[in-house]
Amino acid sequence: MRRQVAVIGAGVAGLVAARSLADEGLDVEVFEKSRGFGGRAATRRTKRLQFDHGAQYFTARSPRFQDALAPLFERGLVEAWSPRIVRLASDGTRGPAPDSDRFVGVPGMSSLGRALAGDLPVARSVQVEQLHRERNGEWTLLTAEGDRTDPFEAVIVTCPAPQAADLLDSASRGLAAVCRSAVMLPCWAVMVAFESPLEFDFDAAFVTDGMLAWVSREASKPGRSARPECWTLQGSPEWSAARLEDEPGRVARALLGRFFELGRVPPRDPVHLDAHRWRYARSAEPRTVATAVDADARIAIAGDWTVGDRLEGAWQSGIEAAESVASQFGGG
Ligand SMILES: Cc1cc2nc3c(=O)[nH]c(=O)nc-3n(C[C@H](O)[C@H](O)[C@H](O)COP(=O)(O)OP(=O)(O)OC[C@H]3O[C@@H](n4cnc5c(N)ncnc54)[C@H](O)[C@@H]3O)c2cc1C
Repeated sequence: MRRQVAVIGAGVAGLVAARSLADEGLDVEVFEKSRGFGGRAATRRTKRLQFDHGAQYFTARSPRFQDALAPLFERGLVEAWSPRIVRLASDGTRGPAPDSDRFVGVPGMSSLGRALAGDLPVARSVQVEQLHRERNGEWTLLTAEGDRTDPFEAVIVTCPAPQAADLLDSASRGLAAVCRSAVMLPCWAVMVAFESPLEFDFDAAFVTDGMLAWVSREASKPGRSARPECWTLQGSPEWSAARLEDEPGRVARALLGRFFELGRVPPRDPVHLDAHRWRYARSAEPRTVATAVDADARIAIAGDWTVGDRLEGAWQSGIEAAESVASQFGGG
């Protein structure tokens, strides 16, 4: 069957783009290499434990984003998060953290992706390896499994910049160059759980330290269970980059040790300790890219890194990509 638009990536940008196009009456299909929805707005679950190991929370500063979130608030899938939040210096001293309205998915950040996906056609566990232009100008996608998709009139690529660049090298040199000019920094995220609560006077902290950048207590977010007590710790971009190829257990032990030091509590044994490596976590220099569409190729790019480095930017970029696709080549 011939579909109009292929969207690569089922993170917030891709799902929002696909949803907007579907609402405009276009025929879309989303391709996602992992098993889940939501990309970096992710939740890791085990039988007893749950961690938001990617995006911690999001802001909703634009009225348009606020309007879009309203139905999710009504369904209880998004709620405000008001943690006791501090700034933690590398000598352990606490200071005030920036004031902001913060929101989270409920019961986990991944609720957002699942809600956005809804009934959209999403082919999961399908990694797109190449975009192939047919003689009539349409695109087919070649997958890592060696399959070739049906043809599409247009493609929206929403992967993190370096992965998007690899896909676009042979399809749109201009957009590939835009992607290559963006640098994305890694982050080691540690998921640690304790049988009983830690006695901290904060729930979350921006950490100004060579090793740690952020810590937060999962149970301070709405809809999470309090026992065992789960924390997410993020390594700083520099520290994470220097240990990118380290073994996860070693990374987890190092960041946990630093957490105890900075929190000024005696170390104790966790009931769970693991680490996840985000190779492309955030933009090094948040900015808005000048060009996000190649009208001749009928390809658009979207993703947080095209308009900053945050989830709200991912949402905005998805909307904008859908608008350009709908206006420039929708209905082709
Ligand atoms: C540790 C961490 C903490 C963060 N904290 C915050 C925060 O507190 N607040 C905030 O606003 N933002 C935060 N962010 C950033 C936020 O998660 C992102 O801005 C947002 O989720 C990006 O959405 P996206 O759709 O642009 O990209 P992604 O979520 O990365 O989606 C891209 C999708 O494309 C898929 N993909 C990639 N290549 C292919 C391929 N070849 N074929 C098929 N699929 C492919 C990926 O699997 C992924 O699902 C954080 C991110 C990380 C990693």
